[in-house]
Amino acid sequence: MQKIVILITLILSNYFISHAQEPDFLIKNVSIISMKDNTVLKNQMVAIKDGQIIEIADKTRGRAKQTIDAKGKFIMPSLSDAHVHFPSTEKEMEIILKLNLINGVTKLRSMRGDWNHYSWRQKYNSIDSYYPKLYLSPPPISRGQDLTLVEMESFVKASKERNLDLIKILSIKNQSMFKQLDSICKIYKMSLAGHYPRLASGNEVNEDVIFNSSYTSFEHLGGLAGENTETIQRRISLLKKKSITICPTLSWYSVGSGRYTTEESRKMPGMEFVSKAKMEEWIEGTEKYREKMGVTAYKEEVVNELKALDQKYKIIKQLNEAGVPMLLSPDASSKYMIAGFSVLGEMNLLKNTELSNYEILKMATVNFATFFKENFGTIEVGKNADFILLDGNPLEDLKTLENLQGVYYNQHFLDKNALNTMRNDILKTVQK
Ligand SMILES: [Zn+2]
Repeated sequence: MQKIVILITLILSNYFISHAQEPDFLIKNVSIISMKDNTVLKNQMVAIKDGQIIEIADKTRGRAKQTIDAKGKFIMPSLSDAHVHFPSTEKEMEIILKLNLINGVTKLRSMRGDWNHYSWRQKYNSIDSYYPKLYLSPPPISRGQDLTLVEMESFVKASKERNLDLIKILSIKNQSMFKQLDSICKIYKMSLAGHYPRLASGNEVNEDVIFNSSYTSFEHLGGLAGENTETIQRRISLLKKKSITICPTLSWYSVGSGRYTTEESRKMPGMEFVSKAKMEEWIEGTEKYREKMGVTAYKEEVVNELKALDQKYKIIKQLNEAGVPMLLSPDASSKYMIAGFSVLGEMNLLKNTELSNYEILKMATVNFATFFKENFGTIEVGKNADFILLDGNPLEDLKTLENLQGVYYNQHFLDKNALNTMRNDILKTVQK
């Protein structure tokens, strides 16, 4: 009798455990690019519960609330953009968030902060939201500001209280202010990030001071591009030693080089999401600038800019070989660059650096997660379910990212139809 009771109890508890474990979402027959390495795991089942990957297996078993058959398709972790300038209005912000989503980008690091972004994060990153996760900074520090110790402390304190992720520096008045700000950041455990810092005098902050500061990332290849070989080598080893991350922002340099004619610029990826008025304003500005400069000077400028871009490609190759972490960071902050689309554009530019597709994709996935110590960035049991669905293998061809089949993020699955609807909604809004 006792044995029977134990047996029944066991059966019942197993039933309840397995029922409680029933996944919310199951994706079967899928090829997984986990981003733990550059291999593909074929014909797998991925089970998700409460936004977490609970099982990966080569056999499909059990049921789920929603199951999709992804035969012939691939999944890889969703993408991130580590250098974003948010717009000034909420209406534009919503468009930017959606433009990122339709390109598979679910994480954004703001590199031009404002205090009101804090309330935007509360609104857009609510518990059940599918909008990209925002990583924030307060308004950037620049050399024009003359801050007292007390002012700097209340600035850092206010950032900490709002749970902002970093303090951005464009430049800083003088070295002693840099040291003071850095020591406050150390007390409050707040990271610095931004430009390789220059002073109001035009000089750089002392190299020793910079590399022993709370800096966690340098933007635009500052401190490297345009420097001599010896300085580049020395700083690359310092970056590696101090685990400082580099955000190359090649798209910004490429578009800014003036290499494209206005006709080519009109056809850049994502330009359908720019209103006619905005586009004409951009074109007019470009034409005026080039006219004022004169044909010869303009052509010369493009040649020089492209030469500088080539040097940047070589530096990125060296950084990669030295094992310095890098983040995907287009800096789509000026004209002819569109949120989300610029993430894919940046990947194409990175192809000029001899990085493999795997190394490029790491910049937008694993490296971002590592930078913020987050539980995503790879596809593994126990990680957040945060991935994109593709109909080709991006390790072989990055172009497949341009034809997104779905996004799974924060317990939402946005399939191709949902993404298309979102796309059409944005088109309607911008063309109004
Ligand atoms: Zn920027």
